[in-house]
Amino acid sequence: MMPCDNGAPLQENAHAVNGIAPENLALAQRDLAHVWHPCTQMKDHESLPLVPIRRGYGVWLEDFAGRRYLDAISSWWVNLFGHANPRINAAVQAQLERLEHVIFAGFTHEPAIELAESLVRVAPPGLTRCFFADNGSAAVEVAVKMSFHYWRNVGRTAKRRFVTLSNSYHGETLGALAVGNVELYKAIYRPLLMDVITVPSPDCYEREPGESWAEHSRRKFEQMEQTLARHADEIAAVIVEPLVQCAGNMRMYDPVYLKLLREACDRYEVHLIADEIAVGFGRTGTLFACEQAAIRPDFLCLSKGLTGGYLPLSVVMTTEPVYAAFYDEYTKLNAFLHSHSYTGNPLACAAACATLQIFRDEDVLGRNARLARYMGERARELEALPHVAEVRQRGMIVAIEMARDARRREPYPWQERRGLHVYRCGLERGVLLRPIGNVVYFMPPYVISEEEIDLMVGVAREGIERATCD
Ligand SMILES: *Cc1c(COP(=O)(O)O)cnc(C)c1O
Repeated sequence: MMPCDNGAPLQENAHAVNGIAPENLALAQRDLAHVWHPCTQMKDHESLPLVPIRRGYGVWLEDFAGRRYLDAISSWWVNLFGHANPRINAAVQAQLERLEHVIFAGFTHEPAIELAESLVRVAPPGLTRCFFADNGSAAVEVAVKMSFHYWRNVGRTAKRRFVTLSNSYHGETLGALAVGNVELYKAIYRPLLMDVITVPSPDCYEREPGESWAEHSRRKFEQMEQTLARHADEIAAVIVEPLVQCAGNMRMYDPVYLKLLREACDRYEVHLIADEIAVGFGRTGTLFACEQAAIRPDFLCLSKGLTGGYLPLSVVMTTEPVYAAFYDEYTKLNAFLHSHSYTGNPLACAAACATLQIFRDEDVLGRNARLARYMGERARELEALPHVAEVRQRGMIVAIEMARDARRREPYPWQERRGLHVYRCGLERGVLLRPIGNVVYFMPPYVISEEEIDLMVGVAREGIERATCD
């Protein structure tokens, strides 16, 4: 359904409008014969072109017809310093010549050691222990199991429940899905999931007129406080995405919520799990989002940008007291006997070390602050559009909320798939935007230029205008 397509000629990528360029077609057909893609209703590809990519460089992806797409979403939030980044390429290549992989139990290697040391140096003080896994969901599983297991090991066996925020997302495996709260991904599997306590999100899109972000977040904390007061004896941990609920429509809240949550978790003896899988590594303006509230979680989950978007790797960082609760004679059976075959993969660790080296050598956060200011200024021009209810920003994340009635914040029905119109328009114009529901967002690699921001915002404007003109 493209109600507003008036057939006006497009200047760029014109031959992609109604499907797929001949150079891409053969690959797309071979793909669709056997591949089942993530987070996709495969039937959509009867009308939606599947885009085979032959190479990437900087913020750009290039298909087999030689058309370029600006990767405005960092390939699902993983890329930090551009595709085919020379420094990360060199680090992975050098590691490949030495050691591709080795069992990580009983054996170790330099890239993992160096990465653990580097992470401990830059993480909030007190997070001195690194447990590696190979994707974000696995890191969340590790943190949940560790918290539960910690309380067992110290004799507090009643503490076995988890508290989560509404609209939160922590991954797709059953434990991670259980502690998340995006209905679209969760509802069907509910019979398989552990029971959790869900507290309303401090999401500031829902603040009252005239209410500040901080006031709203503070007010929303009251329900968390009550939940902890009532159930602390049976709660192992609270899990949150600090500052931005990314998969939950890029909804944002004020750092004061994290400050209050840390204080309350201390008071009630409950762990705090910070899932910075999406927001870590400079996304929100600081290296880690928790820094903006000056807090240290008990478990910090990292993945996505950890390897600069190169290879799957994740890590759970925790404290000496947690580590100590598992450190005992083998026969006490207190150890954390969790493993993945590719835990601590050397190639992935080498990519991660190179990524952290870039943060060390270059003023990434300073440059991002300037880029974020420019991106925010340009994006806020879209607030003038009749169906834009809000443009919100936290660092290198900007989200534009489309609404049927922008003033009353009345959403478009999800069945209309307005975001998909924007996605199509973006492909035609050479920008990879991948709206979540009614929310168009920018989360570009940090190597984007001002000219590229202009293109990205301009294409988003056109997409939103076309998607909302009826
Ligand atoms: C992406 C994401 C995950 C899951 O990571 P995967 O590597 O996709 O399993 C977990 N939590 C948050 C906040 C995420 O954005």
